[in-house]
Amino acid sequence: MTVPVFRFAPSSNGALHLGHAYSALLNHSMARAAGGRFLLRIEDIDIIRCTPEREAQIFRDLEWLGLEWEEPVRRQSDHFDDYAQALERLVDADIVYPSFMSRGEMRAYIADAEAQGTPWPRDPDGAPLFPPVDKERPNSERRRRMEKGEPFAWRLDMEAALAHVAAPFFWEETGGGPKGETGRIAARPDAWGDVVLARKEVPTSYHLAVVVDDALQGITHVVRGRDLFHATAVHRLLQELLGLPVPRYHHHALILGEDGRKLSKSRGDTGIDALRAAGATPGDIARMVGLDLSR
Ligand code: GLU
Repeated sequence: MTVPVFRFAPSSNGALHLGHAYSALLNHSMARAAGGRFLLRIEDIDIIRCTPEREAQIFRDLEWLGLEWEEPVRRQSDHFDDYAQALERLVDADIVYPSFMSRGEMRAYIADAEAQGTPWPRDPDGAPLFPPVDKERPNSERRRRMEKGEPFAWRLDMEAALAHVAAPFFWEETGGGPKGETGRIAARPDAWGDVVLARKEVPTSYHLAVVVDDALQGITHVVRGRDLFHATAVHRLLQELLGLPVPRYHHHALILGEDGRKLSKSRGDTGIDALRAAGATPGDIARMVGLDLSR
């Protein structure tokens, strides 16, 4: 029998708050209950905002919460070559293209299109889909602009990518989507349009790094917040394109602030560090997020 492998994968761009504590504790207790392994992964591809100090604080907070994880911890910034290799395969398959449109150009393009009377399509997070301008550029122009050193992002050509794989494809959901979806979920990556897979300076994006790492670390169970439920469709597509194994997914409820909004890293009052300084115990934290650690 294969041993289940779980992971908690915080980004080290800020301090952990109650929402992270819930995700970490839930992962840890599900791993224990399944007789499985528990790994920690530091997602620090944003090399400007992710700092060693913030990473050290994450370790301190998780240790204080009573979690134990396997060493060594995988740090994404140490593995840019792995993501670059995966990206190269997609470049070779001709299903990614360099995009040069700036945010301002994109806004103007969409405003123009909407002025004709049709609302521009949005992704599941509410962001406008990427316009088809860069996708249509000739290779000679792409090469010229890249050689000139213009900033660009590698984007997945969603249409070409979908033509490469056998649809439909699915994932097994044991938590729940925003509408309570569970069981076998049909992936709809087209809802995201031409997503960014890498940038000129960083050879990956969240989507690419997460699927490469989950595969390299042998993750069998992905337990994470419900805000990533719809993004799983993109992850499934990348797994199909790269021939990677498919974990089971458990998207858990989000811990919301008193105003009913998602917690943010800048709101000190729900930070683990601030709660500890105010006298909370790890048991208090677990109770605050609705988990009973004594079982
Ligand atoms: N690093 C992501 C975050 O902190 C989580 C990624 C994942 O669990 O797939 O939101």
